[in-house]
Amino acid sequence: MLSSGAGASTSTGEGGGEGGAAPSSKRAKLGPAESVSAGDLREELGCIWKGRVCELAAHLAKTCDYEPVECAAGCTVLVPRKDASLHASSCPKAQIECPNAACGVTVARGSMAEHRALCPREEVECPCPGCEERMARGKVDGHVQVSRALHERCVWTTIARLKQANSKLQKKVATLEFEMSALSDQGEAISAAVDEMKDELMDNTTDIDSLFVDGEMQAAQIAYLES
Ligand SMILES: [Zn+2]
Ligand SMILES: [Zn+2]
Ligand SMILES: [Zn+2]
Ligand SMILES: [Zn+2]
Repeated sequence: MLSSGAGASTSTGEGGGEGGAAPSSKRAKLGPAESVSAGDLREELGCIWKGRVCELAAHLAKTCDYEPVECAAGCTVLVPRKDASLHASSCPKAQIECPNAACGVTVARGSMAEHRALCPREEVECPCPGCEERMARGKVDGHVQVSRALHERCVWTTIARLKQANSKLQKKVATLEFEMSALSDQGEAISAAVDEMKDELMDNTTDIDSLFVDGEMQAAQIAYLES
């Protein structure tokens, strides 16, 4: 790939007449029927064309595989004509269609991640902890509306699971603390492991606290709705 700055002056700036080949003084002496090649630049890249001077411009403008051409999508890159479609398949400015079925939106490749972060057809996981159901983003609100009872169960199940994990960690911490006091020379390594587990324990406790609040709120809401 050539940058437009480097390639343009030697290749496309001459309307194809010079072809970036022999110095123009030499070329100027050639009649329109005399034989030429497409010029050093294209020959180095692989062009084997030979033809009359009067045919050179058309060769460069239409058929030469090695003539640098501008990216059709409008980025600033010049590429040999034969690589244009390859470039288009990765060019950030090329327009592509959202891969989500039935979305139909077309954006520049470089903006696709941004689009998909909001695309209503993008598949996402239900935001309720423990639910794990996957659906199109646009259907989450409806799913949440009709799944109150299910989600309440999900929250409580998650709390129970975290409490269980917590008590296991507490036991491990207690065991390690005991071992640490017994093995003074290995104390440093074990101490680090204990610190790590204490951190995890704290994270879990925070999760439980916030889930507990969620659960209580949902329970209160359901009690209110049922009354
Ligand atoms: Zn050529
Ligand atoms: Zn491009
Ligand atoms: Zn989309
Ligand atoms: Zn859900």
